[in-house]
Amino acid sequence: MARTLVLLATALPLLTAAAAEPDYGAARQKMVETIESLATRIAAAGTGSLAPSVLAALRQVPRHEFVPTEVRAAAYDNRPLPIGYGQTISQPYIVALMTDLVRPDKDDVVLEVGTGSGYQAAVLSPLVSRVYSIEIVEALAKRATERLAALGYGNVTVRHGDGYHGWPEHSPFDAIIVTAASSHIPPPLIRQLKPGGRMVIPVGPPFMAQNLMLVEKDTREQVHTRTLLPVQFVPLTGGNR
Ligand code: SAH
Repeated sequence: MARTLVLLATALPLLTAAAAEPDYGAARQKMVETIESLATRIAAAGTGSLAPSVLAALRQVPRHEFVPTEVRAAAYDNRPLPIGYGQTISQPYIVALMTDLVRPDKDDVVLEVGTGSGYQAAVLSPLVSRVYSIEIVEALAKRATERLAALGYGNVTVRHGDGYHGWPEHSPFDAIIVTAASSHIPPPLIRQLKPGGRMVIPVGPPFMAQNLMLVEKDTREQVHTRTLLPVQFVPLTGGNR
């Protein structure tokens, strides 16, 4: 009897270790396959297939490290997940699409508004030169900063603040990704976009129908906007929404 108990006691830690380590790598590859097939089906977005480099980034970034442990088992489902403070990590397909739409290049300096978990910033990290990301919830900004550093995303800088005003010190940006819905396109962000630069932003009222918009500033500084597809994001908060 005593021997059985000892055996059980030693077996338990092994079992919990096995349960804590599902095959996230395989789940992640499956997630990217889902995204690829979705992208080819959604012709309305006019984007065609996603760039191989963007898909490669999604195959690398450990999304399970960016979500709370309670929802970790669902980390590679193609859906948004709660990250606390009433906020969410975006659906992986939308992250892929927004990343693809700004056509990231290795020399680019990119601004993200709405760091959240830091996942979108991590996906951008291997594709560009530098990522600057602003988060209005201080605790989320702190957590994302620590997480990105621990995972080795050394070219990402996170700051706590209101991203409506952009980050003038590091502007102009080759690309801007806004991951919270705004009633309008913030003029400071348009000003901080480089000629030839691209911005993606969900525009619409809080918790109602919003549209993902692509904003392009041409080399003569003319701004062109295009409505791409209906989306649902948490609202942009702060003084100027
Ligand atoms: N990109 C995130 C998802 C973010 S959800 C990720 O990959 O996980 C949108 C985020 O925008 C939330 O964390 C929210 O707190 C933040 N946010 C809302 N209004 C903001 C503002 N004015 N400035 C900066 N961040 C803002």
